[in-house]
Amino acid sequence: MDTESVSLGMPEVRPDLSAPDLSVSGAPRTGGAETGLLDQFGRVATDMRLSLTDKCNLRCTYCMPEAGLEWLKKDKVLTAAEIVRLVGLGVKRLGVRELRLTGGEPLVRADLVDIIAGLRTNHPELPISLTTNGVGLAKKAQALADAGLTRLNVSMDTLHHDAFLQLTRRPFLDQVLAGIEAAAAAGLAPIKINAVLLRGVNDHHAAELLQWSLDRGYELRFIEQMPLDADHGWTREGMITAAEIRDLLAGSFDLSDDPRARDGAPAERFEVRLHGNAKLLGTVGIIASVTEPFCADCRRTRITAEGKVMSCLFSRTEVDLLALLRAGDAPSDDDAVIDRWQDAMWAKPRAHGMGHPGLGDADFVQPDRSMSAIGG
Ligand code: SAM
Ligand code: SF4
Repeated sequence: MDTESVSLGMPEVRPDLSAPDLSVSGAPRTGGAETGLLDQFGRVATDMRLSLTDKCNLRCTYCMPEAGLEWLKKDKVLTAAEIVRLVGLGVKRLGVRELRLTGGEPLVRADLVDIIAGLRTNHPELPISLTTNGVGLAKKAQALADAGLTRLNVSMDTLHHDAFLQLTRRPFLDQVLAGIEAAAAAGLAPIKINAVLLRGVNDHHAAELLQWSLDRGYELRFIEQMPLDADHGWTREGMITAAEIRDLLAGSFDLSDDPRARDGAPAERFEVRLHGNAKLLGTVGIIASVTEPFCADCRRTRITAEGKVMSCLFSRTEVDLLALLRAGDAPSDDDAVIDRWQDAMWAKPRAHGMGHPGLGDADFVQPDRSMSAIGG
């Protein structure tokens, strides 16, 4: 797929969006001691997002094409043993403190429970979370909890069958609802629900989805639609902004800033109350990656299912670790993996180039990969 320029029609910052030449500017090393996943702007990545597969059983319009996306060959995808080794290097030598497993759809990996059990054995205290579309979750929720999964995000954009079908191109809403219920019964709390709003499709369902989540004690987070769809159909004018989401909710609820520190979290949290009623019903999060980006506080390092480091979701540079992992598993081989991972993160751009007002006006270039192939 060719890269494509997307005109955002708004002022943007254009700070060092192209990665520096790694051969010139590698990560600093202090006599062999590890410096963690530091970048040249002083951020340290401690939150690892690992994609387990590029495959998926839904075809969300904002993520995948209806048909025609070729899956990675099995031998190009990280094995369970490679995943456990890589996470071990991240945690024990590079300061990773939190792991999120994602995809594609991680539940389609037959060895998912074994992977989580292996990670849990090696890292008894590590928070391990999973982002899933919930299809097939009903059968696996208890096994995931027993294997040591800490918590779960389930993506569900609407409670309406017709809109669900339009958004995901698959009629599986009931499976998702059953999956969420099973996860709650298995004690995988707190359950977070992720929702993307598309204009004219489910934007008018926002308040209803929030009420449904509050009633059940789930934490709903709306994610602004990002230009990471395989169809390259995203437009700046078409997307529902965080400000619009707040307005959509304000028709039914009072939102006030959550006093808890954001602490590098992508979602801005709000306390939710009914109009004129002081009783706190719960919270809602809004992840405004496009219009209110949080790049300055980003703590994420991403690894694709084929073992490539992406320092940013919007990165157009990928750094391969798989070949090094497969070169051997002696301590010196580990050192080579670590060096390359650090170099990749050192080159992390300062910002993704969207929504930073007042600093230039440049076009944003959509990455080749769709969200499903990066790992959201
Ligand atoms: N298949 C799993 C799921 O849907 O939860 C995990 C992978 S999915 C790529 C992770 C998250 O990314 C989901 O919550 C999904 O809604 C979100 N997502 C996918 N494409 C997106 C886009 N273009 N903009 C914003 N969020 C997106
Ligand atoms: Fe699949 Fe998740 Fe992408 Fe939807 S958002 S197509 S469920 S990977």
